[in-house]
Amino acid sequence: MQSDNLGKTILPISRMVFEGAGRPFRLDTRSVEMALGPRDALVAVTLATICGSDLHTYCGRRSTPSPAVLGHEGVGHVVQLGAERDPALLGKRVTWTLADSCGHCAACNEWTLPQKCERLFKYGHAAADERLGLNGCFASHLHLQDGTKIIPLPDVVTDAMAAPANCALATMVNVLDVLTDTHEEILIQGAGLLGIYGACLLQASGRRAHVVDPEPSRRELASIFGATATYATSASIPSQSIDAVIEVAGTPAVIAEGVRVLRPGGLYSLAGLVHPESSLELTGETFIRKCLTMIGLHNYAPAHLQRGIAFLEQHAAKYPWDRLVSSPHPLTALDAAFACAQDRRWARVAIAPGMTNASKLSP
Ligand SMILES: [Zn+2]
Ligand SMILES: [Zn+2]
Repeated sequence: MQSDNLGKTILPISRMVFEGAGRPFRLDTRSVEMALGPRDALVAVTLATICGSDLHTYCGRRSTPSPAVLGHEGVGHVVQLGAERDPALLGKRVTWTLADSCGHCAACNEWTLPQKCERLFKYGHAAADERLGLNGCFASHLHLQDGTKIIPLPDVVTDAMAAPANCALATMVNVLDVLTDTHEEILIQGAGLLGIYGACLLQASGRRAHVVDPEPSRRELASIFGATATYATSASIPSQSIDAVIEVAGTPAVIAEGVRVLRPGGLYSLAGLVHPESSLELTGETFIRKCLTMIGLHNYAPAHLQRGIAFLEQHAAKYPWDRLVSSPHPLTALDAAFACAQDRRWARVAIAPGMTNASKLSP
């Protein structure tokens, strides 16, 4: 069922439309006239997960155009393919980069920051009528565009393992890329999903992951996923004992502690403070006297997602991945799924757009 930019098909779709914070999602079912560009692809979404940024939008803490179709973490099957894509992708179970980039601008080519492309498009954050309107994962289909890397999934990587990979896991692969051989003792601030992925990636790289989080169940999960040690607060960690600190807590209150435990010449990676309430109460002198490096890391490049999927394949049997993602909710129960995500029992709450109400979860 390949199509080119002349071939059109009529596709019945369903999607849950976000109409503003505090309002319920609206089910929108219709037929769409599909006309794929030569490097586009159409994916039937099989599983999506609710990311922290979806929750921020849902609760009004992050501005997104509305109406919109949210959801950027997901997996699916390729059901239509433009003529210039590899035909072997048709029918494959895949994931994709959450950002679509042009491949030509300075960010794409010279800075190796395609996630900062001057023509960047991010799935799950666009207006509901943009392109064909199939631009978020909380829908039956997602229309992937020409600058989106599509990655087939190995059989051992389940949908639930793979769904959060194109945001949280790939981001953490990028965050850890800045570490060098001199960074052995690592402090991760925050044991949300980024912190959990950080613990197992660090274990695999032979480093020691110290994880701090006030929530006992999160610390337990961090231990299961490879943390060397966990702490409710970092107060018991000796000063100057840590080579690199990775902030994925999302609160600036942890920064002073991170600076305290860093050794001279240490590295501070900021990845969780992606919101306006992130002023840092630090003096320049603190940084200069300790010869520290601070780096901000946001999203990732396609190679990081590719390596994330390879990591899941290699470690499929090593960690209990099913502890991270809830059983799936049907698409039409998206409000219930968001309520479940807000109680933070699961690192990720899943939605299966192909699931019918008849097969929905018992409460
Ligand atoms: Zn995300
Ligand atoms: Zn670009």
